[in-house]
Amino acid sequence: MARYAIHIYCDECSAPHPMGVSVVLNDGPPELASVAEHYAGKTVPGTLNLMLRNCAKCPKTGKMFQQWDSKKIFIAPVAG
Ligand SMILES: [Zn+2]
Repeated sequence: MARYAIHIYCDECSAPHPMGVSVVLNDGPPELASVAEHYAGKTVPGTLNLMLRNCAKCPKTGKMFQQWDSKKIFIAPVAG
């Protein structure tokens, strides 16, 4: 089990922003990977799926946004 931070790609800045939440996964990637890539042909864990419905705040526009494309949602292991 390891803890993963979620980053979602912002279409306005063309950059990923941290969502500010983390999730514990049994089968997460060893390094940053998109959800679509890592879970290709597999079921996305329910806890992660729930987190993906959250919004992130764009530091540039100050707006809350959501990302529905799992190719643009990334999970990265958190050290410690
Ligand atoms: Zn942004």
